[in-house]
Amino acid sequence: MPTYELTCRACGTRFERFLARLLRDEDKVCPSCGSTDVQQGVGGGFAVRPSSSGGGGGCVSHGGFS
Ligand SMILES: [Zn+2]
Repeated sequence: MPTYELTCRACGTRFERFLARLLRDEDKVCPSCGSTDVQQGVGGGFAVRPSSSGGGGGCVSHGGFS
């Protein structure tokens, strides 16, 4: 389920919406101050993720062990 991260530009409150559909304008309402001046997609937290280094060494212990 997509998560929409929103930031109220009026009071700076950050909140999230879990919607099984696209985000609509009626969803862009600040829960704190009720402002509709809400920005979607806060800087940071979307694209860059720390790549989990899985399998970088050579420790492949994957054999028949029964
Ligand atoms: Zn607000």
